[in-house]
Amino acid sequence: MSLKAIGHTNVRVVYGACPHDCPDCCALESEVDEYGRAVCVRGRADHPITRGWLCAKVNRYLERVYHPERILYPMRRVGPKGSGGFARITWEEAIAEITVRWHDIIAQQGAECILPYSYAGTLGLVNGAVTDSRFWNRLGACRLERAICGHAAEEAVLLTVGGRLAPSPEMLLRSKLVLIWGSNPASTAPHFMPFLRQAQRNGTRVVVIDPIHTLTARSADQHIQPYSYVRLGTLIRTNNEVSTRTSGSVNRTFDRDNC
Ligand code: SF4
Repeated sequence: MSLKAIGHTNVRVVYGACPHDCPDCCALESEVDEYGRAVCVRGRADHPITRGWLCAKVNRYLERVYHPERILYPMRRVGPKGSGGFARITWEEAIAEITVRWHDIIAQQGAECILPYSYAGTLGLVNGAVTDSRFWNRLGACRLERAICGHAAEEAVLLTVGGRLAPSPEMLLRSKLVLIWGSNPASTAPHFMPFLRQAQRNGTRVVVIDPIHTLTARSADQHIQPYSYVRLGTLIRTNNEVSTRTSGSVNRTFDRDNC
């Protein structure tokens, strides 16, 4: 996506990575003008997964970053919740107000009454996994199992597969069977899809298990669509039994014969 105005000749290219919590981990290159303003962002053509394109979310990143309605300053709500009234305040006022309120909470009920919720989203390592926990630890706030949305799925993967392994999309090209369970990479990991398509053209069988007829399911060789909790439970139980009957958590015979 380019916001390059005519006359911007003095641009430099800055390399980076997409900050979204997305398995594709796209490699970006941005053109930055002499004022430090990004004027163009695109996927790196020489990256083996990104291959020169970005998804719809990030393709228009600059429009969002430089949008006139983007919130850049602290705003204090005025009027009742939901009324939509906000007034701009300074950073000093915002920090002072939060400090006073947190001191009150800590004095009256203890620091554990403050519960930070944050997860990956668009955070890098420094603000997503280093500085934030030091701050909350120092404060004595409640600890949060951060991935509240994915924990059940992660446990299920650990129990059935034995590890949260993340094979490279390129490995699809060496697989005879690809099982996509409860995931819709056509929408959530689009750079996976060209590899899947190529694998299918090479004869790989693709099976999707998903109660929803997703974009990915539409192009699968087989879509197993659990239509109720009962049937989904049966499927999970069957899978667990298959895993348990084999040595350890991974069915090596199945892997060898099918993957
Ligand atoms: S697919 Fe989109 S969100 Fe995912 S890494 Fe690439 S640009 Fe970022």
